[in-house]
Amino acid sequence: MDTTSKALFDRAQTVIPGGVNSPVRACKSVGRDPLFIERAKGARVYDADGNGYLDYVGSWGPMILGHAPERVNAVLRDAIEKGTSFGAPTELEIDLAELVIDTVASVDVVRMVNSGTEATMSAIRLARGFTGRDVVIKFDGCYHGHADSFLVAAGSGVATYNIAGSPGVPEDTIKHTLSIPYNDIDKVREVMTSMGDKVACIIVEPIAGNMGFIKPKNDFLKVLREETEKHGALLIVDEVMTGFRVALGGAQSLYGITPDLTTMGKIIGGGLPVGAYGGRADIMAHIAPSGPVYQAGTLSGNPLAMAAGIETLKAIREPGFYEALSAKTTRLVNGLKGAADKAGVPCTADTAGSMFGLYFTAGPVANFEDAKTSDLELFSAYYNRMLEEGIYLAPSQFEAAFVSAAHTDEDIDTTIATATKVLAELAG
Ligand SMILES: *Cc1c(COP(=O)(O)O)cnc(C)c1O
Repeated sequence: MDTTSKALFDRAQTVIPGGVNSPVRACKSVGRDPLFIERAKGARVYDADGNGYLDYVGSWGPMILGHAPERVNAVLRDAIEKGTSFGAPTELEIDLAELVIDTVASVDVVRMVNSGTEATMSAIRLARGFTGRDVVIKFDGCYHGHADSFLVAAGSGVATYNIAGSPGVPEDTIKHTLSIPYNDIDKVREVMTSMGDKVACIIVEPIAGNMGFIKPKNDFLKVLREETEKHGALLIVDEVMTGFRVALGGAQSLYGITPDLTTMGKIIGGGLPVGAYGGRADIMAHIAPSGPVYQAGTLSGNPLAMAAGIETLKAIREPGFYEALSAKTTRLVNGLKGAADKAGVPCTADTAGSMFGLYFTAGPVANFEDAKTSDLELFSAYYNRMLEEGIYLAPSQFEAAFVSAAHTDEDIDTTIATATKVLAELAG
């Protein structure tokens, strides 16, 4: 079809690798070209051809208030007038740091960076510098950004495109990363018993959102806490996606664990590029300039980004915010699961806060291997039909989805009705 999106994609492909600035956006795994987005407001995104869609991607997580919320726009306008970057300290940075520390119980001190990737990359450097050890343990299907050390059995785009690792990552770097199955407590104990004294840290998505949506089983996170403590390693909880999303205090508040370090991103920047890492004061004291572990950033703590983050955090801290959002999300997930059941399509669905996931497999799904049993062909058909019907989902079975405060009950009803129609059609 000759659409503006198609013309733009043709143009983009000659000047940008694959036509996109992040791989999953290309929509390759669902057999189509990406839509180019022109604008977004509330729960809707609008493409370059003027079509509107109900959005459950939310820019892959940040847009918990919906798109272009007026209160964030207002502080941004204000901030722009004062200058967009100084490379010098501002009061805004203290304000956001104080808000984060007050919101996330385990964080005493926090450093702002520009992306989730920078946050996790810096956090493992800190863990290595603090412990004097090299080994990093992660879990298959978890995604912690694109730093070299994490590109082993990684989730998100790496999982979507079934990439084993990445050329360009030195063997020497990767040999220090051990990736083991998510939710496998026995394996964690076995590995820590055999090599715990070499482990700098275990890093985990406390609810996995980059291989679909998988909750930690039983005592999985508690065992990670115990084993790291026992062997003098650090526990890094990567809340780039789950932070301020599954609950105000993050997944760590839901599961009652206190990590040594927490990485944050997405929501913390209110739609602008921000990441952060923080935790125990004695560990964070090792970061330059208070300590020897180096980490820096020309645009870190950028005043526009800080202003958007502060206003977003203020909004989500208002009483009742998470209750309302969770109720809407639960109703949506039950509706989607019901639609699949009615159509006789095997389906596993789950949710926490305003994050959810749905696999076309009978389940249960406890790890990446289980997730891979999903019917990817059916997912692709479902994705494309839902898009045609005006519902904008993540173009991969291995991504979580998000509801925002801007989604209305009517939006949820529309989505359930559309899924019911589409799934019946695909099953029939
Ligand atoms: C998105 C994500 C990252 C990477 O963040 P970017 O801002 O894309 O660099 C890291 N960890 C988790 C859990 C994520 O979901």
